[in-house]
Amino acid sequence: MILNHYSEAELSAAFGIEMSTVDGLGVGAGWGRVAPGARSRVDRHDETEFFVIVAGEGELLVDGRTHPARPGTVALFEPFESHVIANTGEADLVFLTQYWRDAARAQFSARSRTRPHATGRPQFVFSTPPTPNGDLHLGHLSGPYLGADVYVRYQRLNGNQAWHLTGSDDFQSYVAALAEKEGTAPAEVARHYSAEIAATLAAMDIEVDQYSVTSVDAGYADGLRRYFTRLLDSGRVTARATPGLVDGATGRYLYEVDVSGACPGCADATSGNICEECGEPNLVADLGAPRSRRSDVAPGRTDVERYTLPLHEFADVVADHHRQGRVPARLRELAARVFGRDRLDLPVSHPAGWGVRPAEAPDGDQVIWVWPEMSYGFLHGIERLGAELGEAWSRETPSADWKIVHFFGYDNSFYHAILYPVLYRLAFPGWQPDIDYHLNEFYLLEGEKFSTSRRHAVWGKEILTPDTVDAVRYHLCRTRPEGERTDFRRADFDRTVSETLAGQWEAWLLGLGERVEADHGGITPDAGTWTPEHTAFLGRLSVHLEEITAALNPEGFSLRRAAAVLDGIVADAREFARGQSQLAGLGRWASEARTAIALELAAARLLAAVSAPLLPRFSARLAAAVGIPEITAWPEVVELVPAGTRCAAAGVRYFTAGARPEAAIAAGAR
Ligand SMILES: [Zn+2]
Repeated sequence: MILNHYSEAELSAAFGIEMSTVDGLGVGAGWGRVAPGARSRVDRHDETEFFVIVAGEGELLVDGRTHPARPGTVALFEPFESHVIANTGEADLVFLTQYWRDAARAQFSARSRTRPHATGRPQFVFSTPPTPNGDLHLGHLSGPYLGADVYVRYQRLNGNQAWHLTGSDDFQSYVAALAEKEGTAPAEVARHYSAEIAATLAAMDIEVDQYSVTSVDAGYADGLRRYFTRLLDSGRVTARATPGLVDGATGRYLYEVDVSGACPGCADATSGNICEECGEPNLVADLGAPRSRRSDVAPGRTDVERYTLPLHEFADVVADHHRQGRVPARLRELAARVFGRDRLDLPVSHPAGWGVRPAEAPDGDQVIWVWPEMSYGFLHGIERLGAELGEAWSRETPSADWKIVHFFGYDNSFYHAILYPVLYRLAFPGWQPDIDYHLNEFYLLEGEKFSTSRRHAVWGKEILTPDTVDAVRYHLCRTRPEGERTDFRRADFDRTVSETLAGQWEAWLLGLGERVEADHGGITPDAGTWTPEHTAFLGRLSVHLEEITAALNPEGFSLRRAAAVLDGIVADAREFARGQSQLAGLGRWASEARTAIALELAAARLLAAVSAPLLPRFSARLAAAVGIPEITAWPEVVELVPAGTRCAAAGVRYFTAGARPEAAIAAGAR
């Protein structure tokens, strides 16, 4: 036999607590001890694991949910469930663990679409609040806004609670700069473009459940001041004089849009405070060969008193946070670069005239910097949404069961994924925010960066109409900059519409409708005899459903992959239709021919269902055309359209308002 006794002498540091091993049990095993007030690091792995609590009192935090742990508690963690054990009592918390690999269980867990966003948790899905100094162009729309919209639509089809929140980030210095240039007030600029942005989002069929306008929302500024006071009360944010730059001619303080130079991280040209190329912050005084936008005189160096955070002391806090949610490797790598510096004393306020002044210095020249402000703005948005929904979500007491999901461009990574987790830790020490991050890179236009100032842009309003919106959404999904820079070319878009969407998708669906009309009187036939080709086609459709489910699940979320699956369904269906149309009109094979048509209609039904999050208008029209109800749930399986359903697909157009595209596919073969 094996007899093992818990022994403190055999423990050593592991996973943020103390562990020992028990050998010979046939599976991995060990003892764990959590000291009073301590908690383990977030852990997540392919093994199935269970804990037996033998002493002490505490909590288990599993995928954002908290469960009590006391002597006699047994807890099993499925593969990839994130888990933490925390001691909330006065004495040691002691547990026995066992863990083993089970490939089938791991595969099941990896493909599950309820884990880790277990149903019942509210998901707050944020697209970066846009700066109201211009309207939205396709570069903006393709990134955070389309991403968040599809994400929320998909989650809701799965029966999960999810809302899209964004708003107008009014206190950006870029708003004040434009107002100065145009001789108007910042509030006026913000009001104008905030309304334009909201209209463009609507034109893109991007539904927003909560739209905060930071300079206008009731209670926003007061709530922000209280949040800032929490940061000061932590003792880690203090008023300090650190080096800054001022304009050589006017003495005016320089930051953000007013200053440029060489990035201390990558040496590329950058504006003040953040580098779009490498994603690293700068302190303005550390820019190489700085230039002021306000005069040609070399900027002067001087010590400037600002509220300042010693960010370099928080590498472990950020790493711990990065173990919790969906955090792309690129963000962890950025954190490693940022924390590789000896010091990073980051100002969180700046001398400026546009913004919210801290309660502690109401008459001073400082405003709370708009980027730290945004971390509060997200919590404000959640509270506002809750007020509309009758939920008591409070920006003052964020909850462990909130799932926050951020969509943003890489140039915002430092703020979202490094600075904000630290601010949350200081403001709410007991809160372990569970945040997923979805990044996009730059979307180029004809090979160059989109530029509002140089008018090098395709504005949403130039291209979006009720007739084009699905084509735009499809093309942007297909080409959006996920993991690499990509390029919008007008000729490519036109080709997508004429060759793919009209020439293939619409042509197939029109032809299918005409064949159902001609051969079955417009009524969906019952499937008859199945050939091996039919079975294989059903199998392929099932694979497409699995693929697009994986592409829309949070872990693997990719609109490029999802849109490619839609096109794959059409390509497979067209090929199937070309082959099977040989049977049409051959009386001996009428039963097999019916099956082929029923399967093509099943493909159309599948396309209507799985395109719903990406192309909502197309999905609704296609569902109506093949006679099925509006799509309200994500399909579990590929299903035939019920026999006897009236099919109205002949003559329904989706992407071409005018001329008829190429003749229906099967026409030549019949
Ligand atoms: Zn850089």
